[in-house]
Amino acid sequence: MQISDLVRADIKNMEPYEPHLYSNVIRLDANENPHLFPPEVMEEICSQLTQDDFTRYPNPLAQELKASLGKMNGVAPENILVGNGSDELILLILQTFGGPGKRVVIPVPTFSMYKIHGLISGTEPVEVPRNDDFSINEELLIKEMQHPDTRVTFIATPNNPTGNITPAEQIKRLAKATNSLVVVDEAYINFGGSTNLELLKEFPNLIILRTFSKVALAGLRVGYLLANRAVTTELLKVKQPYNVNNFSQIAALMVLKNWSKFKAQVEEIKAERARLETELNNIPGVSVFPSQANFILFKVQVSPDEVYKKLLERGILIRKGFGRTHGLEYCLRVTVGRQEENDSFLENLKKILIP
Ligand SMILES: *Cc1c(COP(=O)(O)O)cnc(C)c1O
Repeated sequence: MQISDLVRADIKNMEPYEPHLYSNVIRLDANENPHLFPPEVMEEICSQLTQDDFTRYPNPLAQELKASLGKMNGVAPENILVGNGSDELILLILQTFGGPGKRVVIPVPTFSMYKIHGLISGTEPVEVPRNDDFSINEELLIKEMQHPDTRVTFIATPNNPTGNITPAEQIKRLAKATNSLVVVDEAYINFGGSTNLELLKEFPNLIILRTFSKVALAGLRVGYLLANRAVTTELLKVKQPYNVNNFSQIAALMVLKNWSKFKAQVEEIKAERARLETELNNIPGVSVFPSQANFILFKVQVSPDEVYKKLLERGILIRKGFGRTHGLEYCLRVTVGRQEENDSFLENLKKILIP
């Protein structure tokens, strides 16, 4: 007997997610918040914990957190669903609305998990190339969105890894053009662009996806979506009952309560992004794609894998591996770090690129 003969045919050729487990490196690869988690907020989180939080199952609807998120976003708790990171919600949407014989439309290059969760859920991923400037090719996309088997389209704005936004006017046209779901992934919305939340009233097929990961809590896995009641009702049938643990629910609540502290960190990151953009552009052979997120995509004229490797040897971890995706053959992505981390990145990149 071969275990590999037992596996689902469409899983057989997939590869496990490759973790980057390096110690003692400057981590500019995963778009996390590089700043110190405020110690007083950490204390507040711990002081809220009760013994029941360890022995008893968490609130399956994350009611307190949803109440707080609802107030902050001006929507009712029924319009919100909290997930174990927004990754879980991407899979949940596809499990609920996709599946065999259905299609998920993905404007590429973009976040890789849309395709991966498409495959895992048995939904066929249909990739639609973006324009050269990474804007949406509206005509091509609408054609695929209008296919009778399409159930979901994912649009990240600001987009990962390219950093550009999709204007609200275009999102409106896309949502209007289809009877299927349009997920607007606002994972980086705190760093640029403006939210499409108010479009929920106008478009019953819209889902807004958000996460705590990029601003504060990547380690605790909290994401959420905002959608109309008809959508959340269906998703709740499929959601794992205890998907977000007690500790994470409390931590997310306290992050919201102390939002101004994280907002200040976001402002620091945005200022560093502007500096990093300028300084990167000043390095001969480097060109930068303007970014509204907490990372920068840049192009080199030599092998990006070599640049990546040499940076890693010097203790700096960034992101490579966009070679297989449309238009990014010579690109690398760097997360905006703290000032001293960015300095070290720039200094080492110059040493590698300038002989
Ligand atoms: C990082 C990222 C996510 C995933 O966030 P989690 O909440 O940590 O699962 C979702 N969408 C995009 C575009 C991302 O870059």
